[in-house]
Amino acid sequence: MTESSRAFCARCDHEVDVEHRHSRRLRRLLKGYLLIPLLSLPAFPVLASDYVFCIPAMMLYMLGIGPVLVIVRDPPLCCECGALISGEGRAAVHAISQ
Ligand SMILES: [Zn+2]
Repeated sequence: MTESSRAFCARCDHEVDVEHRHSRRLRRLLKGYLLIPLLSLPAFPVLASDYVFCIPAMMLYMLGIGPVLVIVRDPPLCCECGALISGEGRAAVHAISQ
């Protein structure tokens, strides 16, 4: 509940401030979590050959992808009524402002 911007809320039927449940810093940080496989790609032959530590560690990493995606894709909420703001609501404000 930190940063806010503007979007069209279908329930309130006007442009409102929107907020996210998780901070922008946390969402950006967790996008880095999704890039870890790209960074470790050169070491993949070594990682795939170690059945004791690296393969269980990769499985634990994959278990974390689901919760990370939930936070990264966190939809904005209306500050007035708490409704989820759809992609159309965000696009409507962009169309109005242009
Ligand atoms: Zn609303």
